[in-house]
Amino acid sequence: MNLILASKIFWAIGVIGWYAIRFPFERRVKRERVVDARDRLRERILLFCSTMGLGIIPGIWVFTGFPRSADYPFTVAQLVLGALVFGFSLWLFRRTHKDLGKNWSVTLEIKDKHKLITGGVYRYVRHPMYSAFFLWALAQLILIPNWIAGPAGFIGFGILFAFRVGREEGMMLDTFGDEYRAYSARTARIVPGVF
Ligand code: SAH
Repeated sequence: MNLILASKIFWAIGVIGWYAIRFPFERRVKRERVVDARDRLRERILLFCSTMGLGIIPGIWVFTGFPRSADYPFTVAQLVLGALVFGFSLWLFRRTHKDLGKNWSVTLEIKDKHKLITGGVYRYVRHPMYSAFFLWALAQLILIPNWIAGPAGFIGFGILFAFRVGREEGMMLDTFGDEYRAYSARTARIVPGVF
């Protein structure tokens, strides 16, 4: 089979797999009462950037080949490595959803019965779900041999991360105080022991 077609299929399976993991949680959290929501408009704009980079721009390349002039050569090694990284990202994504449960939200929110999660994959980093998204962006970079559609995920999600993570930690500090301060002191943000 054509290598490029295989990479497009892997990308599509990854995106569908991601949504299949997320969908049941979206339904579950709808029933939770929100007691604090921050910067809703700003958060929507950040989500738009992330969706463009991880979904729309690579999606256009996958379905139309645009922008063809930015294509570069592709090998089996890229296909295999990209698929492995995507698989790892989905595994981590599923773990983070299981661990966060009803405390999860798409934008910055605190629930009525919000609990601070520090176990499971949250033992190693404070933002494992964002680690999973960065792994997805890395998989996209490896799987899509195009100078624009490949790195778009890193740029789109990178913008969301950069403009959100400090405010998210501020909100968690306001809600959980010393408990979150102690948790932050013993964990890195997205790469265990590094950052
Ligand atoms: N930044 C985390 C969570 C992403 S979901 C991660 O990357 O895994 C975003 C929501 O999760 C925020 O609105 C916040 O209310 C909640 N949250 C973040 N860290 C949390 C934690 N350790 N325990 C419970 N809820 C958390």
